[in-house]
Order: sequence, then C-alpha cells, then structure tokens
Amino acid sequence: MTLLHKGILKIKSKSRYWQRDIFWNLGLNNNFHKNTNGSRIIIYHGICQSDHTRFNNIFLKLKTFEAHLKFYKKYFNVISLNDYYQQRFSNDRFNVCITFDDGYANNHKYVLPLLEQYQLPATFFITSIRDAGFDILWNDFLGIISRYGPGILRYNNELFKKNIWNKYVSESTGIIFQEIIRSGGFNEKVKMMEQLGGLVNFRENKLEQDYWLQMTARQINELSLSKYVTIGGHSCYHNDLSRIPIGAARTELIQSKKYLEGIIQKEIKAFAFPYGTYTREVVAEAKIAGYNQLLAVNFSFPEDFSDTTMRERFTVNPFISVNNQMYANLTGRY
Ligand SMILES: [Zn+2]
Repeated sequence: MTLLHKGILKIKSKSRYWQRDIFWNLGLNNNFHKNTNGSRIIIYHGICQSDHTRFNNIFLKLKTFEAHLKFYKKYFNVISLNDYYQQRFSNDRFNVCITFDDGYANNHKYVLPLLEQYQLPATFFITSIRDAGFDILWNDFLGIISRYGPGILRYNNELFKKNIWNKYVSESTGIIFQEIIRSGGFNEKVKMMEQLGGLVNFRENKLEQDYWLQMTARQINELSLSKYVTIGGHSCYHNDLSRIPIGAARTELIQSKKYLEGIIQKEIKAFAFPYGTYTREVVAEAKIAGYNQLLAVNFSFPEDFSDTTMRERFTVNPFISVNNQMYANLTGRY
C-alpha cells in the first residue's frame, strides 16, 4: 500500500468517525448496538486523569473509561474471561470481556473502584517486574526518556536523533531505538535503564506516576480479592517472547506464574503475550507451564483459530469517541 493510499484510507475513516458522531448526537443511529450478538475481548492498558497521549497511545482518560463502562453496562453483556472461554454468551446482547495489560498502579487506583461500582468483571495481565526490583517497565522508561530526553542520544557508540513523534531513530541505520532494545533480553534493558537513567528526573514528578508506576505485590493482592477480578500473567520483564531465546521465554512463563500465584494464592491459568507476539514454541512452552488460556492480539498462524486455548483480542483506540469505540468493538475493526 502506498503512502497516498494509506492517507486516503485515513481520511475516509476519519470522516466516517465524524459522520457517526454527528448522527449519534442527532439521535439518528443510536440503535447500532441493539439486537447484536457476537463477542470480543477488549484490551485496555493505563488509565489517567488527563493528557492520556502524553507518552504513548495505550492510555485512556478516567472519564472516557467510565463512559465505556456505562455503555457496556447499559447495552452490552460483560463477562469474565472464564465465562468467555466457556462461551457463556448472551444471545441478544453483544458480549464483551474487559482486559487490562501491563499491571499499572493506576489499574488498582482507578479501575478497581469502578468495577465494584458498576459490578463488572475484568482480567488484569500483570508482569513480575516488581520481583526483579523495578517499579517501571522498560518500555515506559523509554517513553519518558523519549519525551523529555535530549534531541540527540548516544548509545553503544551509535547516534540516535529524535523524530517528530518523539522517537529516537538511529542516524546510521534508520532503526527506531525502542525496536533495537525490544529485540534484546532483560539484561540489555537493565543496562539501557542504568545508562539513561540520569537523563531525566521523572521520579520527582509525583503527578506523572499514573503514566508508569507498576502495582506492588500488596496492590495486586488487593485487586485479586475483588470478586470482579481475574489475574493473568504477562511475562516477567515485558520482553517480546517471540524475539528472545526459547529458554529465556520458558523461564519467564514459569517465573511470572509462580510470582503471581505466590501473591494471590490462586492458580494463574491465563497468559497474555506481551505485544501479542508469539511463536509455535512459545505457545507450546506456555501450555507446559500450565496456562490454558492464551491471549494474542491477531493470530500469527491459521491453526490458532482451532486451538481452544487461544483467543484474539482487540485494542481500544485512544483517539476516537466513545460512540465510535463501541462501534469498533462490535465490528472488530477501526
Ligand atoms: Zn504489555
């Protein structure tokens, strides 16, 4: 697809969104969610009070998220991950399973009270990064450095220049810094955090903690005590399991399960692959480790559709209205 084609598609979908919003506000197509059946697992990440695209595209504002919940409560059938796997679906309402990735402290702070208030179930996929002595994931650390760091970065004798989207790009190869780090193991990520840690004093700004702080073991336990909550694994270090040696991936699958089970004193059966990526070997190792609910984003292999342990998920879009998000949830595309 050429850039021009992509541009045209973008404009087309934007005008579709505007049109839908105008119709919605005029009360003209407010029934699109009624008498629909089907099901979808939705992925959320972080929730913050304001400025939700400050560091990345995976946060939503608290009031937007609450509006989603109100809509779900009113028109959808929200079910737990277990019920989703058991196919305990409603036949006259669209079935939604809410999931949260990455284990942000903001999930404990903002999402848990809302689940209790609206009496809606959700599943939280959490890493065991706290067990490694860190309170931040490497990708969030890099997001902060990319936003506040200098225009030019020198790392491992390579120069990286910030582009207009606040991403460091290699001067020599054109590869994005984040992609280079993502391909490495946790040792390289720790080295990167140690080397660049002095560039930005982000810990001083308490107001920004919502964007990166990880849940503590105590908070994970409190979350798990709610009858609306299911906890699942999301690796140890938020490594891309499809890019690291299979032995390292196996260790992460086993260790993260052990860590979470130690905290919540319940069996962990579900695992969401970080970035949604996996290989055949990673899936096999996940099953051996004892997971029987494996969550991807888009399946990588055709045989995944007939694998009863595997499910696809759909990520929320932080740039569109509640009405358009709900429409996308139904259709499964943006
Ligand atoms: Zn993740």
